[in-house]
Amino acid sequence: MTALIQGATGDWEMVIGLEVHAQVTSAAKLFSGAANAFGGEPNTRVSLVDAAMPGMLPVINGYCIEQAVRTGLALKAKINLTSVFDRKNYFYPDLPQGYQISQFTQPIVGTGEVVLDMEDGTERRVGITRLHLEQDAGKSLHDQAPKLTYVDLNRSGVALMEIVSEPDIRSPEEAAAYLTKLRSILRYLGTCDGNMEEGSMRADVNVSVRRPGGALGTRCEIKNVNSIRFVQQAIVVEAARQVALIEDGGKVVQETRLFDPEAGVTRVMRSKEESHDYRYFPDPDLLPLELDADWVASIKAGLPELPDEKRARFMDGYGLSPYDASVLVAERETAEFFETVAQGRDGKVAANWVMGELFGLLNRQGRAMADSPVGPVELGGLIDLIADGTLSNRLAKEVFEEMAASGKPAAAVVEEKGLRQITDSGAIEAEVDKVIAAGPDQVAQFKAGNEKVLGWFVGRVMQATGGKANPAAVNEILRKKLSE
Ligand code: ADP
Ligand code: MG
Repeated sequence: MTALIQGATGDWEMVIGLEVHAQVTSAAKLFSGAANAFGGEPNTRVSLVDAAMPGMLPVINGYCIEQAVRTGLALKAKINLTSVFDRKNYFYPDLPQGYQISQFTQPIVGTGEVVLDMEDGTERRVGITRLHLEQDAGKSLHDQAPKLTYVDLNRSGVALMEIVSEPDIRSPEEAAAYLTKLRSILRYLGTCDGNMEEGSMRADVNVSVRRPGGALGTRCEIKNVNSIRFVQQAIVVEAARQVALIEDGGKVVQETRLFDPEAGVTRVMRSKEESHDYRYFPDPDLLPLELDADWVASIKAGLPELPDEKRARFMDGYGLSPYDASVLVAERETAEFFETVAQGRDGKVAANWVMGELFGLLNRQGRAMADSPVGPVELGGLIDLIADGTLSNRLAKEVFEEMAASGKPAAAVVEEKGLRQITDSGAIEAEVDKVIAAGPDQVAQFKAGNEKVLGWFVGRVMQATGGKANPAAVNEILRKKLSE
């Protein structure tokens, strides 16, 4: 789906490419043994390497390499058996080395692909240009003293995977779908926690505009956007700014900008640096990284089932719609919960309960799947009681609420509250007779061909039975008696 912008001079198309920095989930940093955890007292997780003491030597963390390879494989990407670490030279107070160790001409992972599941059930493909490993910088603290800036090096040297997309994205919704899918893949793998609030996943958003299908326009890069919602907002305002600028006779200048969510604008940060400004050269402290093809193959064999494959299996095996399947596989915990519920039961019914009542409950209570008050085995038990006729759907919803409140299994709630559905046709017939006797006008209407009036009878019977009569049985008996 392409979202066109209607300008004063005609339509414009947005072109978007994303660079995502994903922090590798690992105990130690990329080139040192210092701890990688988020937060902590400033400068307590800093080794001599991270502080760039003279004569320090970086030592590559094999675990981080493995995570980058796993991520590359999950992105269906080419793994480069030889890759090179380069120095990207620039001065910044939170970068004591005076350069960042990154990968430039020979990244560890080459071209790949992410499949987007759009809300309407369609798919879109976004190319991955590359994934490379690099060190994070430290952090300048401007709010600790009125006239001083402090530097915290805890983050210095933390391993990042920079995942660069092709300029294949055409709307804010697609950008959101891309980030959601990428995060889902990273979480399935456990290679990055995908936590945008804590900054372990951040996006640089490249935006340009062009006439639909025309040549690519000049892009601006919006740095370090830290939520999916802000990415969408930043794209909208930046694309609108560029259209207005061009239609006004101006030209987009390639530059780095910042998004200010409060003001709802992007502001120029600096003119775009070119790669030659960084004087990249291979880091003489690090040998080229050589990977063994068999090792890569064994990592590939050990990958977990990923969202796309799981989604296909859910559609095939449980008869789910593309949309339902993609919702259920988005998080691994949700997928596992669903599969436990669906085990040996009707998959569509299980999906409806998980996505309907259960998601609703978790939403209301602000809880994650992991601390759902109703577990998957218990929800399965409830569905069994619908299948065997003990409960109608309506009663089951009541039982579900009670299960959530009391933590008791479905069968216990049914017994205690007497919520069992009345399927005994004698009992229902007696109620039907009473309702028919009490509504001669309605009977006449029904006989005159007014089908809708049947609802009135059903409502009365349900009322009289406290909602416990089996609705199918009520309908059947009513029809039979009314046509006698
Ligand atoms: P740099 O390293 O200077 O940021 P890259 O060539 O690596 O430049 O591209 C960075 C990002 O910009 C990529 O995600 C790419 O898809 C995106 N991009 C390139 N050209 C355009 C364009 N004309 N409009 C939007 N995005 C673009
Ligand atoms: Mg860039």
